[in-house]
Amino acid sequence: MSQQLYLIALGSNQRHELAGHPRKIIEQAIEALEMPDVDVFAQSSIIESAAIGASRRRYANAVAVIASDLDPPALLHRLQSVETHFGRRRIGQRWRARTLDLDILLWSGGIWSGECPALAIPHAAMRERNFVLGPATEIAHDWVDPLTNLTIRQLFHRLNRPKPLDRLQSPH
Ligand code: AMP
Repeated sequence: MSQQLYLIALGSNQRHELAGHPRKIIEQAIEALEMPDVDVFAQSSIIESAAIGASRRRYANAVAVIASDLDPPALLHRLQSVETHFGRRRIGQRWRARTLDLDILLWSGGIWSGECPALAIPHAAMRERNFVLGPATEIAHDWVDPLTNLTIRQLFHRLNRPKPLDRLQSPH
């Protein structure tokens, strides 16, 4: 496969014995993504946000644009080996604390849908996540989501525009 571009999400909300706090884990995970056949083109700043669900820790999140000859399943496999390196466990409840979570958000080839491995690009939840869209506006604001035909910037504004109920409750 020729050179592909991918937008990758990185998230962490659990301390790692050696790597340290979530922010440090994200920094080291971005370094770990750089491999002979994977180039990190751009990385966003690392943002910290409140945890969702049962695990009450804070999250650190960032996104990166990478270039690689790997096809989507091969890249997913590579990302999972980086997750394993940072000690992520694939068992237990859905919102468990996680050392490192790596997702493929967008791919220059457009849409990918496969069962084995289970892989859907664009990533199913990316349009509802400020901790993904916020960092993504820093480095990939013009990238078009092939399912909605909206750019990252437009998805971010759509997610954050006031809802009708907010306007009713506003004093002005
Ligand atoms: P989660 O524990 O929610 O991160 O889900 C991980 C599983 O989601 C992996 O085993 C993948 O097979 C699957 N998956 C589906 N689409 C994607 C994607 N775009 N990026 C990463 N993992 C994905």
